[in-house]
Amino acid sequence: MTYSNAYYQPSILELAQEGNCRALTYWINSLLGPQGISVQVQPAPANFLKIIVNFRRPQQRETCFHLRDRIVRFICYRLWTLNSDAIDGVRIVARVTGDSKVLWQQSVRINSPAALRLRQQKVRSSSSPRLTKATLLKFQIWRSVFLSSVTVVGFLIGYWMFYLEVGKLLGKTKMSEAASPAASDPTTPALAEGVSSHPAVRSSSQAASVENPVFSVPEEFQGQIVSQVQPAAGQKVIALTFDDGPRPETTPQVLDILKQYNVKATFFLLGANVQQFPELSRRIVDEGHAVGNHTWNHVVENASSADASHEIDDTTQLIADITGAKTSLFRPPDGRLDSKLVDYAKQRRYAVTLWSVESQDALVSAPLVLDNVLRNAQPGRIVSLHDGGGNRAATVQALPQLITALQQQGYRFVTVPELLALHQEQQSQNKPASPRIPRPTHTRSVAAAPRSIEVWGKAELTP
Ligand SMILES: [Zn+2]
Repeated sequence: MTYSNAYYQPSILELAQEGNCRALTYWINSLLGPQGISVQVQPAPANFLKIIVNFRRPQQRETCFHLRDRIVRFICYRLWTLNSDAIDGVRIVARVTGDSKVLWQQSVRINSPAALRLRQQKVRSSSSPRLTKATLLKFQIWRSVFLSSVTVVGFLIGYWMFYLEVGKLLGKTKMSEAASPAASDPTTPALAEGVSSHPAVRSSSQAASVENPVFSVPEEFQGQIVSQVQPAAGQKVIALTFDDGPRPETTPQVLDILKQYNVKATFFLLGANVQQFPELSRRIVDEGHAVGNHTWNHVVENASSADASHEIDDTTQLIADITGAKTSLFRPPDGRLDSKLVDYAKQRRYAVTLWSVESQDALVSAPLVLDNVLRNAQPGRIVSLHDGGGNRAATVQALPQLITALQQQGYRFVTVPELLALHQEQQSQNKPASPRIPRPTHTRSVAAAPRSIEVWGKAELTP
């Protein structure tokens, strides 16, 4: 799969991300127009935009004041999703169309990751010229002291390693000379090498000792279709899922981000890709993520029962052979339920796993991916994302901000098997027969929920 850029034209959102005022005006108007509001974005110094909000005539003055908070939050949220280093802040000025008098105005900093990064860089570069000559001289002296000590230590380490290697060589020749009876036993040399510190051998013996994970599902979900669960109150959990991988263009980047934020996700793999990229498949499982079956070839056309056996059984078998993981999760291509594949998967007691938050990352750019997820996130839901099947730059771009925003809202990321297990917990809690756990403090945890930006996404501005 290669992606041609020959006919590439930047989208409105990409232009908006560059701070293009016409694109920004067009975009915000497309969102606020239906509410009887039009805006005009103007450039201002130091990446601080000026946005003039015009209320159309029949709007009451009171309404214009009443909507102030929501409009400011809405515009700022949308600018935040752009994650643009060209937008550091915004001054919003509200007027009634045709009237030059200002109704209200407000300045807000946009703390998107890109804007924060740029601000930090600016602080760093502005603080560095303040260094006096004396401190520079001190710094240079300390640096040379440090470098020379590093050289000495490096030399000592090198000498020590050389000493060890010579010792090992001598030891080996001695062993091969002396242990001729043991040479008939094929395990002996490997064991001997494993004991001496050979990194390659040690890691392979470690891998063998790690238990092969089993991604099974609670009985109530076996052979069932699931797109979300009902976790116990106060359990703010959500599951990220990635389909159509593994692909070398995207999967390593996704894995790096997940590792950076210590997030565990679920990958629905294609058998054909697992076969082509076994190392990458192994990396997914080794880094603690769950895996599921997404068919061998991503067949969407009606498959026969014989095809179903190949698409599902062979994929699960290959995942087990290559990664060591056994999975009972199946996600039908495109979420289509009207196929022999789904019937077959149900027969084989898979949990047919759909999703309840549609990121549309295959169709839209990063700001909208972010908005689609944040607006629909709720405890117990499953988020659909992709690490294969096309250019997934939007997914990679949105992912860090998506994770941090949900973490700030108090969400904990779990894998799909973990999510399904949480549902079962709540069921057993609700049974009158097992009152062992006292009613949790629902009200307190709901009231104490961190201030979220969920509200920001809601576009209902009509009074
Ligand atoms: Zn798919």
